[in-house]
Amino acid sequence: MGTSDRGPRPIILIIDDQPTNIQVLAEALSGTYEILFATKGEKALELVSSRVVDLVLLDVVMPEMNGYEVCRHLKNDEKTRDIPVIFVTAMNEIGDETKGFDVGGVDYITKPISPRTVRARVKTHLQLKATRDLLEELASIDGLTEIANRRRFDETLDREWSRMLRSQQTLSVFLLDVDFFKAYNDTYGHSIGDECLREIARALTVTFQRPSDLVARYGGEEFGVILTDTDAGGVRRLIEKGLENIAGLGITHSGSSVAEHVTASLGGITVIPSPALSRSEALVLVDELLYEAKADGRNRGVYLDMVADAKTTIIPKSRPSGIE
Ligand code: GH3
Ligand code: MG
Ligand code: MG
Repeated sequence: MGTSDRGPRPIILIIDDQPTNIQVLAEALSGTYEILFATKGEKALELVSSRVVDLVLLDVVMPEMNGYEVCRHLKNDEKTRDIPVIFVTAMNEIGDETKGFDVGGVDYITKPISPRTVRARVKTHLQLKATRDLLEELASIDGLTEIANRRRFDETLDREWSRMLRSQQTLSVFLLDVDFFKAYNDTYGHSIGDECLREIARALTVTFQRPSDLVARYGGEEFGVILTDTDAGGVRRLIEKGLENIAGLGITHSGSSVAEHVTASLGGITVIPSPALSRSEALVLVDELLYEAKADGRNRGVYLDMVADAKTTIIPKSRPSGIE
């Protein structure tokens, strides 16, 4: 199979202070890969911050910044951490092997290099990386709706909670539950129920569409949303829009006693994380607000802005057509 069948060629960055070494490695790999190179560590770090790089071949001994330092920099930066680094080192430096693994290298190739070995090692590590990426993706995406899953929701909440605890900025968290969904399944069947959940996921993704927004399937017919950098006024409008967009799907629901179409209820908070309230306590609170929305009549959001200590009930306008 030609490489052109598989989309763009993987990009390999070669870092070596000796241009002749770069040339030998590039010759071994050209044709299959796109090659970038740098003769200095600093230049290499600049390159990886502006270009996508799939794998790095890194010389150990270089003047100024040596290979270990370059690798340490790559591993300390979230954006470059996952790029596999293979050290290329002379035979007499092999005693330092463990050091390369300690700083995060995945493999060693010794000079003088054998082109076949270079090709085989590079291929192996690119494949390993691709498999890891795929597993990661599979493990964080919900199979039915193809949005983020519960695991990803929990991880994101963890991360954002800590981040906002440090920066003392607001975080908003919602839980949303489809109304009378058991009756929906009983009336239309489970696979139509599944389709309904997919549509709701889509309506929520359209509503909360900023790159920093997270919409996740929290479980069964429940969805979770995490927003950062949004003031309470914006949050209220988004909750209303989200509920309207679900109603706007216009999915007939004869078993519902609150509307003729599918609706949902939502509990939500905006909070500046503090040590006085744990993440899990915050989620319990959100769940209680969701319960309140159900008990008050469903098809609504109960939102608590904990910064202003203001609680509002948000009822969507009667069914608008379409979603936006
Ligand atoms: P409420 O308005 O109080 O939320 O009532 P409800 O019927 O939605 O709540 P209940 O918890 O009694 O029922 C939830 C239903 O959601 C039952 C379950 O079969 C259905 N459900 C959960 N996950 C899925 C799924 O993946 N696909 C389908 N089709 N149905 C699901
Ligand atoms: Mg439920
Ligand atoms: Mg429900």
